Amino acid sequence: MGNKSIATTCPYCGVGCGVIATVANGVVTVKGDPDHPANFGRLCSKGAALAQTIDLDGRLRAPMVDGAECDWDHALTTVAEGFKRVIDKHGPDAVAMYVSGQLLSEDYYVANKLMKGFIGSANIDTNSRLCMSSSVAGHKRAFGADTVPCCYEDLERARLIVLVGTNAAWCHPVLYQRIVAAKRRHQDLTVVVVDPRKTATCDIADLHLPVMPGSDAALFNGLLGHLDREGEIDRQFVDDHTEGCEQALACARDTAPDIEAVARICGLPEDTVAEFYRLFARTERVVTVYSQGINQSSSGTDKVNAIINCHLLTGRIGRIGMGPFSFTGQPNAMGGREVGGLANMLAAHMEIEDPEHRRIVKTFWQSPAMVDKPGFKAVDLFNAIDEGRIKAVWVMATNPVFSLPDADRVRSALSQCELVVVSDVMRETDTTQLAHVLFPAQAWGEKDGTVTNSERRISRQRAFLSAPGEARPDWWMVAEVARRMGFGEDFDYRSVAQIFREHALLSGVENEGVRDFDISGLSEASDREYDGLNPIQWPVRRGEGTARMFADRRFFTPNGRARLIPVNPRPPRHGVDDDFPLIMNTGRVRDQWHSMTRTGKAPRLSDHAPEPFVELHPLDMNACGLQDGGLAQVFSRWGEVLVRVRADDGQRRGSAFVPMH
Ligand code: SF4
Repeated sequence: MGNKSIATTCPYCGVGCGVIATVANGVVTVKGDPDHPANFGRLCSKGAALAQTIDLDGRLRAPMVDGAECDWDHALTTVAEGFKRVIDKHGPDAVAMYVSGQLLSEDYYVANKLMKGFIGSANIDTNSRLCMSSSVAGHKRAFGADTVPCCYEDLERARLIVLVGTNAAWCHPVLYQRIVAAKRRHQDLTVVVVDPRKTATCDIADLHLPVMPGSDAALFNGLLGHLDREGEIDRQFVDDHTEGCEQALACARDTAPDIEAVARICGLPEDTVAEFYRLFARTERVVTVYSQGINQSSSGTDKVNAIINCHLLTGRIGRIGMGPFSFTGQPNAMGGREVGGLANMLAAHMEIEDPEHRRIVKTFWQSPAMVDKPGFKAVDLFNAIDEGRIKAVWVMATNPVFSLPDADRVRSALSQCELVVVSDVMRETDTTQLAHVLFPAQAWGEKDGTVTNSERRISRQRAFLSAPGEARPDWWMVAEVARRMGFGEDFDYRSVAQIFREHALLSGVENEGVRDFDISGLSEASDREYDGLNPIQWPVRRGEGTARMFADRRFFTPNGRARLIPVNPRPPRHGVDDDFPLIMNTGRVRDQWHSMTRTGKAPRLSDHAPEPFVELHPLDMNACGLQDGGLAQVFSRWGEVLVRVRADDGQRRGSAFVPMH
């Protein structure tokens, strides 16, 4: 490729920033896209260092079978025949795919179609399960669909932003920058942070609630009861557009009866709780942002609904500057949800367990083997491999031996699996080492397609580099395997635009506004129009996007009402005891991404946190006989790690923080 500048999208977090990548005389530079509505030219340290991470060191360049390089035909045929052999002998549920929020929507769509419509198994789940499925389930319970109500502009139009379980300063830095800028412009914008740790996000907090880990649902149940007691209910909205209010309030009264009880459960001073409740009660424009601190919990769905309940009770949803707002972790966690990348979903936000949805998708795909029940979810999927129930698995664009909980069990499961296929960019990962077949995938900058960010905005990722060796797009690999399994006609894709059009068309079938996800307005985009597609927020019915959902006060439940859900707060499944006296939290550091396979290549990104560490309150550190800067062996019920000790009085007493990377 010659000298050129291409508008594309950052491959890291769910903010989905637009970047301009320029290749001039073989040198790549990356800067923020001033026209992209997610970031208006801003980038964080990770996005700004993208050009330093695109070298080809360590790339997987050729297909491999049993450790030997081979041609594509041999590798693809090995996988197709291996899958067919297992299906013939053990049935379709003996095969599986484990995919990723790093995939583009078009890759995801084709993989999901093969598994759920043609192989006939719903054993396809995504690593987004780990970070996002609580939000999906919470949205569906409350709204009848997995709908994110807000848009980024709401952060700038709000007068109170509550950030719960989210260190946005490090994990969604450009949105944090937008909040900082809004706070500078609007003296009356108040920020509350709810987090056991005093994180960098607290730099802009007017109030910080260092809650006891796991007590968020009690905090929001208490808020629900407080709003009721203070007469802050939007009675007309509640009566006309919701159901379940009395049951949710009764549950809140039982479990978090007053501020004193909430303060005790959450380990907070009473006046801090009272101040938060007062701010929420008196401010009409409230956005409650939550992220992995809420989602990644054994009761994450309840926590999501406890937050949404407060917005429904006050009618603060579907209007400018207000609503519950989930920030997604990965660049295309949202896109994965849209194409049905979760084991309990069909394409286009349809449900496997809804016979009408199954009929629509089956007819559209002309599917010979439509699934009729959900498949294994991420952790259960690997347990099923370990138990020998799944005998062939294809892992795409993710590294589960590193990233899933109980990684030793995942390793052992894959070690004894009959056929392990991995498509990846890198030759050596913890997971590629266990693969029988390796497919070289195209990386960011080489592949083409779309991603959806946290505000439902679909943006193009565009290629500006040639792929090394034999690397190919993931959708192409799936289509080639499908062809070799006898499904050629239905996977005869010639371009990524063709897949997008099919995906868009399906979203509009028998829809007419009954389902939230509808991008049928893009289904006739020509190749050229797809190529030039500007970032746009779904639903897109007639060419226009949609900034905010529920402006019409209609929800996607059968009776059109949103549901308040009674929430019984549950403590974390494993509490502290004499053997394990500290609660360990985990999260990102500012300059690294996931398992660091990309960000680890940029030396300047490692300067910020060059070693893995544990942060402890100085009093806990002393009680453990540790020293600031020394080393500590940290044990949990599932494993151990050797890390550097950091004293940090921003840690809540009794808790520790270890980064995930
Ligand atoms: Fe990339 Fe997220 Fe940083 Fe934006 S905020 S540049 S999407 S990592």
